[in-house]
Amino acid sequence: MKRIVVLTGAGISAESGISTFRDASGLWRNYRFEELATPEAWDRNPELVMEFYNMRRKQLFEVEPNAAHYALVELEEKYDVHIITQNVDDLHERAGSTNVLHLHGELKKARSTVAPNLVYELDRWELKIGDKCEKGSQLRPHIVWFGEAVPMIGPAAEISSTADIFIIIGTSLVVYPAAGLTDYAKPDIPKFYIDPGASYAGGISNLTIIQKKAGEGVPEIVNSLMKR
Ligand code: NAD
Repeated sequence: MKRIVVLTGAGISAESGISTFRDASGLWRNYRFEELATPEAWDRNPELVMEFYNMRRKQLFEVEPNAAHYALVELEEKYDVHIITQNVDDLHERAGSTNVLHLHGELKKARSTVAPNLVYELDRWELKIGDKCEKGSQLRPHIVWFGEAVPMIGPAAEISSTADIFIIIGTSLVVYPAAGLTDYAKPDIPKFYIDPGASYAGGISNLTIIQKKAGEGVPEIVNSLMKR
């Protein structure tokens, strides 16, 4: 079975109604995304950071996967599909994808501030100051903030290096180290980049750019891959 590795970003969830990173700037009380998604912001004003993620989590309980998420599930009938997502939403899992690696954490999880391995599923949107882990420390969103290490980058690079086909969807390829994963894909394998704003092609060999929204471009590429 050929292996398809899919790298997704905020753009794949845009048609589900979740703002992309760039669109979100300024939308939320005039703070920029980068100002709230940092350890410094948490130290300075944990209530504000908590509220920001609570609002995003609340929205996540109200949206659904779209045609692009569902099309990727179909690929599993014929290929060994591995999704590497920069997204913190759970729309790939809710659509039915079985191999999903979250590079930047998960909105529906919280973790201990003293023991990072203590991670808890949240079945509600609200996380509060005073919500504690079993060791008695405050819980924080299970998110990789700007300036923090990305623990899953090693496994993601390993998976990328084993791809027979590499698909990039809805990402501006500006946030590192995620954007660097394309460097691990073998030069000669076919690569596809589906994003209406895609213009970046520098350094990625054998790349086909499809300037379409994910909801249209992903089902199309999946159809053609299913006929191969
Ligand atoms: P980004 O905002 O930098 O780029 C989004 C990309 O999506 C752009 O290139 C844009 O052209 C494209 N896009 C917009 N609408 C699209 C559509 N309908 N179909 C396909 N593509 C579309 O986001 P990024 O590259 O993912 O990186 C930003 C960071 O923001 C990531 O680390 C991610 O964790 C975080 N983020 C996540 C979510 C989420 O979980 N859904 C939402 C916002 C931001």
